[in-house]
Amino acid sequence: MPSGSCACRHIRYTASVQPSRLVNCHCVECRKQSGAPYLAFVDFPTDAVNWDIKPTEWRFSETASRFFCPRCGSTVMMTLDCEPSSVGIAVGTLDDDGSVQVPPPTSHIFLKEKASWFQLPDDGAKRFQGWTE
Ligand SMILES: [Zn+2]
Ligand SMILES: [Zn+2]
Repeated sequence: MPSGSCACRHIRYTASVQPSRLVNCHCVECRKQSGAPYLAFVDFPTDAVNWDIKPTEWRFSETASRFFCPRCGSTVMMTLDCEPSSVGIAVGTLDDDGSVQVPPPTSHIFLKEKASWFQLPDDGAKRFQGWTE
């Protein structure tokens, strides 16, 4: 079953199911927080993820929280108040040991905030200017 951690391995988790979709978010906050052109999340049911130590919450808007390791700063998770039954795990935190099956990219979202210098790959994923349109 899938497992993962932050860069320093302080924050660790395991999941009891495989992730359901892969969403690439191009919003400014995802770019800034990750230090990358965009942030890729895989979705898991909230109760399917078990944390050895919970990551630190950054309440970054009235509707969403981001979670990171307090030691190394790695982005680990994002949650939305409107979807309490699922969490977005930063896909790069997954251990790539053959136990996880990451689906092909489902969508690119918040393309209205995409970095102008970044060229989207022709990967067949759906494209949205905001969340879903
Ligand atoms: Zn860490
Ligand atoms: Zn985002």
